[in-house]
Amino acid sequence: MKEKMQWLCFRKQVWFQLSVMTMFSLFGMDCAFRSSGDLRLYESYFPHENQTAAIKQGKVRVTFLGTTSILLDDGETQILTDGFFTRPSLWKTAFSKIESDQNIIQSVLEKAKINRLKGIFVCHSHYDHVMDAPLVAKFTNAKLFGSSSTINVGIGAGLKEENMELFSLGKPVKLGKFSITVLESKHTPPFRIFGKTNATDSNFPAIASPLTQPVKATDYIEGGAFDFLIQHGKHKILIKSSTNYVEGAFDKINVDVLLLGIAQLSLQPLSFQENYYSETVKKLKPRLLIPIHWDNFFLPLAKPLEPNLKLGDDFDSNMNLLLQRTSKDQIQVQLLQGFESIDLF
Ligand SMILES: [Zn+2]
Repeated sequence: MKEKMQWLCFRKQVWFQLSVMTMFSLFGMDCAFRSSGDLRLYESYFPHENQTAAIKQGKVRVTFLGTTSILLDDGETQILTDGFFTRPSLWKTAFSKIESDQNIIQSVLEKAKINRLKGIFVCHSHYDHVMDAPLVAKFTNAKLFGSSSTINVGIGAGLKEENMELFSLGKPVKLGKFSITVLESKHTPPFRIFGKTNATDSNFPAIASPLTQPVKATDYIEGGAFDFLIQHGKHKILIKSSTNYVEGAFDKINVDVLLLGIAQLSLQPLSFQENYYSETVKKLKPRLLIPIHWDNFFLPLAKPLEPNLKLGDDFDSNMNLLLQRTSKDQIQVQLLQGFESIDLF
């Protein structure tokens, strides 16, 4: 009898402990899958009017298409970075192979009025940047510019050789009135989620052979990270997708507009945050700063964008530390929703 009581007591204890553990892990999971920021706090940083009228001569319009997909348009020529539009769900990305969705890509091209596209520049070859770029190139007849990894993604998608061009670092590419210079950069420092890291395996630093979808998200290897310096007339724009810097790279560059990747900035050590700001914003001295790579790319572009998940980022902290510094330096900050456009100059 006594033994039976002890056994029941033990079972009760185990059940209680398991319940508490489950509650805690569910609570943790719930927190991790919540948005890491509240966009209502930044309402004054969004434009009050979306530019939809015809682009006046000499002006350049930017349209934000989520993550680091940026469309620049001067009314004659359009150029695009990345063009990642499929945005598979977190579930799909984690547990199955992924592939580009032609219908989604076509609908984004239509909605964003991408019909004069001349070049797509891919900042690195992780899936959330490169996966749709070859199809965007196919549908628009624009040229795909990228690293050897990006070119291998293009070949795997059946893109013709004449529609692709390997990056030639530091050498400007002219497309209409745009002149685009590709600069070597660094990827956001690696991180771990559920024990998995996105760090590049030094034994496999690049996509070494044609990559044909469907593939696992992890098959898209970084293959180098790049910034884009874009000149149009007297004006300059810099697009920096990854939250990292090459010391001294911008010593001799000033720009009018900086599109700056802020993903995971506040998760880095304070010294990194300081250096990132001083090696990018302080050196480039932009009049206008547009944060990019802040949205949860597991959600569709067709819906209003939401900040990255708590699982891997902290949007509110990223914005706070950026706004503290930019207000001191009197730099205007502008957030853009998906498909939102403003004229830069
Ligand atoms: Zn990446």
